[in-house]
Amino acid sequence: MREIRHWIDGAAVEGTSGRQLPVWDPATGEQQAYVVAATAAETAHAVAAAKGAFPSWRAASLSRRAEVMFRFRELVDANRKEIASLVSQEHGKTVADAGGELARGLENIEFAAGAPHLLKGGYSEQASTGVDVYSIRQPLGVVAGITPFNFPAMVPMWMFCNALVCGNTFVLKPSEKDPSVSLLLADLLRQAGLPDGAFNVVQGDREAVETLIAHPDVQALSFVGSTPIAKSVYEQGTRAGKRVQALGGAKNHMVVLPDADVDAAADAAVSAGYGSAGERCMAVSVVVAVGAVGDPLVAAIKDRIGRITVGPASDPAAEMGPLISREHRDKVAGYLAGAGGAEVVVDGRDAPISGSPGFFLGASLVDKVPTDSPLYTDEIFGPVLSVVRTDSYEQALELVNNNEFGNGTAIFTRDGGAARRFQYDVNCGMVGVNVPVPVPVAYYSFGGWKSSLFGDLHMYGPEGIQFYTRSKVVTSRWPDPASSTVDLGFPEVR
Ligand code: NAD
Repeated sequence: MREIRHWIDGAAVEGTSGRQLPVWDPATGEQQAYVVAATAAETAHAVAAAKGAFPSWRAASLSRRAEVMFRFRELVDANRKEIASLVSQEHGKTVADAGGELARGLENIEFAAGAPHLLKGGYSEQASTGVDVYSIRQPLGVVAGITPFNFPAMVPMWMFCNALVCGNTFVLKPSEKDPSVSLLLADLLRQAGLPDGAFNVVQGDREAVETLIAHPDVQALSFVGSTPIAKSVYEQGTRAGKRVQALGGAKNHMVVLPDADVDAAADAAVSAGYGSAGERCMAVSVVVAVGAVGDPLVAAIKDRIGRITVGPASDPAAEMGPLISREHRDKVAGYLAGAGGAEVVVDGRDAPISGSPGFFLGASLVDKVPTDSPLYTDEIFGPVLSVVRTDSYEQALELVNNNEFGNGTAIFTRDGGAARRFQYDVNCGMVGVNVPVPVPVAYYSFGGWKSSLFGDLHMYGPEGIQFYTRSKVVTSRWPDPASSTVDLGFPEVR
């Protein structure tokens, strides 16, 4: 069976621990490969490689670092098909969906290629007589990224493009469930001219993560994953004196007002609810139907579910693939079994493909979900859309604002005033107005509020540049030899 290796100091390296973690083929339910979980010593070896590469990579000119990003962008673009099919093979999402993930990842490379502009400081001439003050941004050193299974190409790119172009060196700990693409990206970075050791990959799980958190040479941690682990990584990392941004889970509400176009809202709910089998942190998982829109909206969603083709990524007609693991599929199906007083309108367990050996579950729709039901309170992370009915906009807003998570939300309406009020009042980091998956473009930053993000800075975009650099302010005087005198008074500005 194929071993998926680590990538340390510019080359693939075999694991030594003997602790094998399976990589499944979600479409067939069979194991296709394994990673050997990194030991503390192997993880430390990767950190040492990154530390060794830091002084010269930091010293590379801005245009040289930007050039590496330009070349990397061209290589990723040229290898889109191969990368997308590798993502599909291990994650299970359709090749078209994997291509979309890659397209959003490319945006991050393009943003990072603008480093000479992004890393400009400020300059105040004549802050005092003959004194100038200026600020510069410098890299942190070795930084680490820990990423989830659901975007094995894009989420690492959210992190390492900005981190590297700022002059840091990087250790990635990808998800052990779909780890191959990390090695392909490492090799493309090498081909783009990144020096050996500047980008490293350690395969594994908690043990590798805990080593990165505790390692004194790791200056900062970027994490994306579930809320309990995000919180723990944030707490442990900050306790160890590191800069941490830890993005967690979500329960994204899509509010549909009575004046919304029902067909457009149903199209959006189905696309954002079942795309990638609901395994997106920006998936819509709750539709909040306000007033009379409830019945026609539920009927329109039900009608569209009947037309979704569920199947393996190898089937070009498939629109929705399997879930990531058998355990996760069974957990998601368990929410339907325990629907209690809610009305199961479409039960994905009845879909013929749900009985196949792959980790499939058909799309499910549950109406009139009580807000104390686990269907509402838990992040399900699967193809299950819950509908909650409210009588008014105010009740809908209260629901979104009282939810534990604050990643994304959307409002569907024809009323600009209502949309603007929602944008103003809602406690979420990313808001869509008639847009169901409002993942910001790469020149804005990505991040939620409340239990969806621990830390101060959002990921990628301008806040990513801030996260991966620290600022230094220089006060400088070049005395004119003709006017130099001794003055023991305390320096004053005016
Ligand atoms: P996960 O939390 O299980 O794993 C994320 C990473 O943490 C993986 O690399 C994993 O190996 C590592 N990990 C697992 N257990 C750990 C432990 N005990 N200590 C330290 N590290 C550990 O998440 P997942 O199942 O891979 O991904 C799905 C989750 O990620 C969902 O909750 C989803 O909402 C979230 N997510 C959030 C965003 C966002 O931007 N907010 C984006 C994508 C995914």
